[in-house]
Amino acid sequence: MIQVMPSPAPHPGPSPGPHRVPRHPHAWWIALGLSQALVAAVWWQWGWRLGLPLMLASHVPFLWGTLRPGSRLFSPVLTRLPTTEPVVWLTIDDGPSDDTAAMLDLLDAHAAKATFFLVGERARARPQLVREIVRRGHGIGNHSHGHPQSVFWALGPARMRDEVGSAQAELIDISGVVPRWFRAVVGMANPFLAAALRGHGLARVAWSARGYDAVAADPATVVARIERALAPGTIVLMHEGARHGRNVDTLQRLLQRLDALGYRTVLPESLEGAGEVAADDDVATATRG
Ligand SMILES: [Zn+2]
Repeated sequence: MIQVMPSPAPHPGPSPGPHRVPRHPHAWWIALGLSQALVAAVWWQWGWRLGLPLMLASHVPFLWGTLRPGSRLFSPVLTRLPTTEPVVWLTIDDGPSDDTAAMLDLLDAHAAKATFFLVGERARARPQLVREIVRRGHGIGNHSHGHPQSVFWALGPARMRDEVGSAQAELIDISGVVPRWFRAVVGMANPFLAAALRGHGLARVAWSARGYDAVAADPATVVARIERALAPGTIVLMHEGARHGRNVDTLQRLLQRLDALGYRTVLPESLEGAGEVAADDDVATATRG
């Protein structure tokens, strides 16, 4: 009953490698329908003492899929690059900001590359920074239009389409580049995100290492947390523009530690088309050691 339609332009064909656009964004309706039919049958047959707990339990997976950043319940989500090389994908959320220019200089100084997950409204306010990110060879990703962090997980289908679509249009208009990756606000998805991503050929990416630098100010503490999770293919979550003002210092320390530990930064595009990735593999678990 799942309708499979060809991928819309400008992204024809299958998603290669780790970039996986949601293919069945409405499959969860079927799971919901079946589970509630089962609940109704049990309730009718054995009464509320069984039916009520079962109904509550049947909602747990949907909450889990919404609130857990790495959950694949509603859509594929990349949490790790499929590689055995000592490389990491550095991702920097929430820009552009007052930190962006300094971060670009730091990345250049370490010959490092990153993907900046940009907020549409902030990009519109500072288009020259967006173009500078691209000019220096970094990636840009979609991190919603308005960054509605307290309500993103609860957005309905229309609002979700708008958050994804407006940011996408803004970033394309400013940079001429079509973002291919989406990072959910505060990492949370919900049942309506996959359909919004699919129309734009966007794949969702979470992370495998973070130091809570959006709130934690001390660079040493943040980088130590990231270091504990470091492994080949780790996706590192960083932020810019945090109120505590230490994000640039933290990036500097992280880049120093990556150099010292022999890790390079890569963008996922460098791994695609290499023929080493099975398209149907669960890439998050394939390389977990
Ligand atoms: Zn964010």
